[in-house]
Amino acid sequence: MAAVADKKICVGCGACVATCPVEAIVLKDGVAQIDPQKCISCGACVATCPVQAIKLQ
Ligand code: SF4
Ligand code: SF4
Repeated sequence: MAAVADKKICVGCGACVATCPVEAIVLKDGVAQIDPQKCISCGACVATCPVQAIKLQ
């Protein structure tokens, strides 16, 4: 399981990037991109995203 950001919903605010404890998220072309190899599925980014763009799957 890993967090996945929906690039159609993401508004590029960067909140998830700052929240991730393992630096698994970067902004690329204005949207969040999550590295599933680094993600530990903690859920912090899911809770932080203001537009509910991230899901654990
Ligand atoms: S679920 Fe946790 S570890 Fe995975 S990308 Fe989100 S904040 Fe980072
Ligand atoms: S917190 Fe949500 S809207 Fe903001 S960059 Fe991350 S995925 Fe995109």
